[in-house]
Amino acid sequence: MAVMTNPWTRCNSCLKILFIQDILDNNTVCPACNFHFRLSALDRLKSLFDNGAFTVFDDNIQPVDALGFMDGLKSYAQKLEENQKKTRLSEAVINAIGTMGGIKVVISAMDFSFLGGSMGSVVGEKVTRGIERATKEKIPYIVVSCSGGARMQEGALSLMQMMKTSAALARHEAARLPYISVLADPTTGGVTASYSMLGDINVAEPQALIGFAGPRVIEQTIKEKLPKGFQRSEFLLEHGMVDDIVERKRLRPYLIKAMRLFLNRPE
Ligand SMILES: [Zn+2]
Repeated sequence: MAVMTNPWTRCNSCLKILFIQDILDNNTVCPACNFHFRLSALDRLKSLFDNGAFTVFDDNIQPVDALGFMDGLKSYAQKLEENQKKTRLSEAVINAIGTMGGIKVVISAMDFSFLGGSMGSVVGEKVTRGIERATKEKIPYIVVSCSGGARMQEGALSLMQMMKTSAALARHEAARLPYISVLADPTTGGVTASYSMLGDINVAEPQALIGFAGPRVIEQTIKEKLPKGFQRSEFLLEHGMVDDIVERKRLRPYLIKAMRLFLNRPE
């Protein structure tokens, strides 16, 4: 959630007026209704690693406007520059290495505030390198997705990232190393159709929007009304599409426990 000078904010879900600090102190979750506000990639990494400490890598890979794409009145190159300034991130994902519960792990955390967390060539490349580093170091890999899907401004170059990341995950799996996918709100499009759904376990945050195409597109295609709560974590869990729903305050201990089980390394 955005840091504002005003100490108050309204919850997007229950509409209660709340003290921002109370939300931040509660893992950026509404203390009144348990609504999970969006976390930045950096805050996510801080919340997961031991003592909030980690080393960022691959941060020097810069996106390029390979197609000379015009996005409305602005070029994609301009949009990239604006987003880099606004978010102080080089791209929509951060790769980090550190420990969780003493277990060395690579985490790639996506950031929705950078072009909707969309997956272009650099996001795909960084996720692939994150996986490859974990494979090389023989350690688990975790992705926290928060993405609108493939980045339209990069066309087919974006779509190619789906295969590249999936192939890297297949090699990680062949090395018998764990991969856990965490799905935050929203996880949609090409990310859902590739690495986000390929975890040894896929765990979602409560009420997260998770899907491939949006509900309107599906309704128009199948010419049917969709059921209530369609594409939310709870619906997906009920229908076997995700393995568990984990509240943010339980996420870190949950992931540590899962890694211990996979690595056969009891406490
Ligand atoms: Zn609320």
